[in-house]
Amino acid sequence: MAIKKFDPTRFRWSGVPEKVYKTSGTHFRDISRFELVKNLSGLACQLRYFEIQPGGYSSLERHQHAHAVLILRGSGQVLIGDSIAAIEPFDVVEIPPMTWHQFYAADNEPLGFLCIVDCERDRPQRPTPEELEQLRANPAIAAMIRV
Ligand code: MN
Repeated sequence: MAIKKFDPTRFRWSGVPEKVYKTSGTHFRDISRFELVKNLSGLACQLRYFEIQPGGYSSLERHQHAHAVLILRGSGQVLIGDSIAAIEPFDVVEIPPMTWHQFYAADNEPLGFLCIVDCERDRPQRPTPEELEQLRANPAIAAMIRV
């Protein structure tokens, strides 16, 4: 379908089912994934919508591929490398290659964002105990990260 209509009452797109975010692990919480554009001939990237429920978070990870993110609803924070930033609707977030990142929804509303990613990409890496220790050397990050 060339057009997937948006339903603002549900904050969902017609004909786009929810996907399992990741099949195992406890390193993320309350996050849904929707593949808005996945196999479009001539386009080498995908457009996904993620929604993190209040208080939830994505997995702490890094990888060779980059992300371009546009916040659509709610608010929260994002860890990118060694910095933490507040995010709100229409902010644009760039995640460079091999940069630790994690998204956190505020406690009062879902955090929803679009994410553009290469179709062909490497698997996300999670921090080793040593890398986690390095990240936690920064007190602000230590207080923020969830694993
Ligand atoms: Mn990622």
